[in-house]
This record gives sequence, C-alpha cells and structure tokens, in this order.
Amino acid sequence: MNPLSPGACIGILGGGQLGRMLALAAASLGYRCHVFCPEDDSPAGQVADSLTVAGYDDDGALRSFAGAVDVATYEFENVPLAAVDAVAALRPVRPGRKTLATAQDRLREKRFVQGLDIPTAPFAAVSDPASLARAVAEIGCPAVLKTRRFGYDGKGQARIDSPGDAAAAWDGLERAPAILEGFVEFRRELSVVAARAADGSLAAYDVVENRHRDHILHTTTAPAPDAAAIAGPARRIAEALLTGLDYIGVIGVELFELADRTLLVNEFAPRVHNSGHWSIEGAATSQFEQHIRAIAGLPLGSPETLFASEMTNLIGDDVRAWRRFLAEPGAHLHLYGKTEVRPGRKMGHVTRIRR
Ligand code: AMP
Repeated sequence: MNPLSPGACIGILGGGQLGRMLALAAASLGYRCHVFCPEDDSPAGQVADSLTVAGYDDDGALRSFAGAVDVATYEFENVPLAAVDAVAALRPVRPGRKTLATAQDRLREKRFVQGLDIPTAPFAAVSDPASLARAVAEIGCPAVLKTRRFGYDGKGQARIDSPGDAAAAWDGLERAPAILEGFVEFRRELSVVAARAADGSLAAYDVVENRHRDHILHTTTAPAPDAAAIAGPARRIAEALLTGLDYIGVIGVELFELADRTLLVNEFAPRVHNSGHWSIEGAATSQFEQHIRAIAGLPLGSPETLFASEMTNLIGDDVRAWRRFLAEPGAHLHLYGKTEVRPGRKMGHVTRIRR
C-alpha cells in the first residue's frame, strides 16, 4: 500500500475514547475518519468526519463503511472477527486478523507468546471438570482462573486459593472455556507500548509503571522509575511480539516484573493502550499519531520521551473535579465526551509533567 495522502479516510471500528484520540491525531495529519460503532452518541463518533451507527453483524453497513474508507483499524480487541473479515474483504485492516484472533483468546495468546520464548505465568487450559482438576494439580495454588474470551479490567477472573475452591470458581465463570494461571507475586506491573510500520521498522516507548485500583488502571508513571535494568528487555519483548505477529500499528504489552527483575508477559492489547496516554504530552510522537502513521503507511515518528509524566485516569465520579484539574498549572485534562457518569467508567484522564 502506498502511503495515504492527506485527505484520505481512515475507518475506525469502535466508538470509545481510544477511537476518539485516534481520530483527533488523524485530523492533525490531515486525514478524515469514519467511525463505525453501535452506539448513538459515542466518544469517537463525536469527533469523526463520518459515522455509521450499526451493529457489528450488519454486513451491508460494514460493506458500505469499507467502501468509504482507504484503510481500517479497530480500537477495541473484542470487535467480532467476522466484522473485521467483512471489511478486510474490501480494504486493508491493520493490525490484521491473525493478531486479533490471537489477542481475543487468552490460551492462544499465551501459547503464541511462549512460542517466541518469552516467559509468561505458568498456565493450563480448562474446558471441562477433568481438565480443571488436571490444571489445578499442575499449576498449584494460589492461581487465577480466567475466561479465554471477553475478559477485561479483572472481569471474567477468579482467584483460587485452594484446590477445593476450583469448581465453585469455574461455576462463577459460567463454566466458560478458561485458562488457569499460576498466581504471580510480582514486584510491580509495567507495560511497553510500541509500534511497527508497514516496512517492518520498529519504535518502542519507554517502559512505564502501572498501578491499578479495583482492577482498573489508575496511574501510569512514565518512564517507570528504576528501569535501567529492564528497559532493554522490555523493548525487546515488544519488538519480538510485533515482528512475530507481522504487526502494523501500535501494540500495548502488559508485563509483570518479578523480584529478580525477570519480566513476564501478562497479555497484549492489539491497539493503542491506556498506559500510553501520557505520550500525548510526554513523548515526541503520541501513541495515537504513531498508530495512524503506521496504518497509513507513513514512517514512524520518534517515540522518545520528552517529559517524564504521570497519567491518572478519571474513573466514575473522579471526573466531577474537572474544574480543579483545569485550574492546576501543568495538568493536561482530557475528557472523553461521555455524558453518563458510572462507577468504573473511564471518563477522562489527566497527565502531569513530572519536573
Ligand atoms: P488481566 O485481565 O489478565 O490483565 O488481569 C488483570 C489484573 O489482574 C492484572 O493487571 C494483575 O493485577 C492481576 N493478575 C492477572 N493475572 C495474574 C496472575 N497470573 N498473577 C497475579 N496477578 C494477576
């Protein structure tokens, strides 16, 4: 594909805040965006040039969306594969199907990561009571049972502290196909956001440290403090994944750092990532611009950190303090245009340059 010229149209499947910030970055590069999502008043739809409000199973709507765009991407990993296939029949979709299929299934994802000789927590597949018993015997306790599909922010997960808890935990997950993972006593959670362009070139942002509240990302510190020993290994993990997936675009790779500084991959997100939001102010090229550059066939921008930064998510009622953030010198407020405040809902974020 030749680089997209200014004025070309980028299709985004999904209407959330990631799509919104992608569309804003695309606009800076002179592109138009066409958002496809089922919701009427969506964060991305509000800022897009064109909008299709339709279900992901609406083949006709998907076909006309594809016909109206030059390249397409998705901003959440649970977009149905069939929807991506319908668009991909007419236009390039980046990142591609293999990445999406891998990221949608925790078992396939973990096997893929291990196949690249990148360490993960020990894991075993669970599909029936016998495999659950085998998995508990093999992995031991404590362990975490996770549904293979549709888990996010700690949903679809249950901790198992003793073998006797296993059956009830799996019942709690409605006996969905699952994986059992050994519980990792990590020192901290990190992530690395990185990009691969159509020509195979790579660019990784500094590794960052993430702290969660109620299983939802709360604060990202960029770069991660005390990261000299793990910066290179973290970057190489991201680069191996990008190359192994034949990836085009930005990826977010979530890591556990152990006491001995070993890094394990927890999971990867085939899209821009919440832990990369700091890059809007803190890096030479934001992760959103980087993703647009990659999928548009442009050269990647520099991922260099310009300012050490701290990004805090505004979750639920946090957003009501927006006036305070506006009044705070050096705080950069980003609101996602969501009208209804709900507990656990990501309403916006604030990035503070660390001086
Ligand atoms: P996930 O949905 O896989 O990203 O998991 C959500 C959160 O649960 C992670 O950010 C960790 O804090 C925790 N977690 C997930 N897997 C494990 C594990 N194997 N051991 C310990 N904590 C875990």
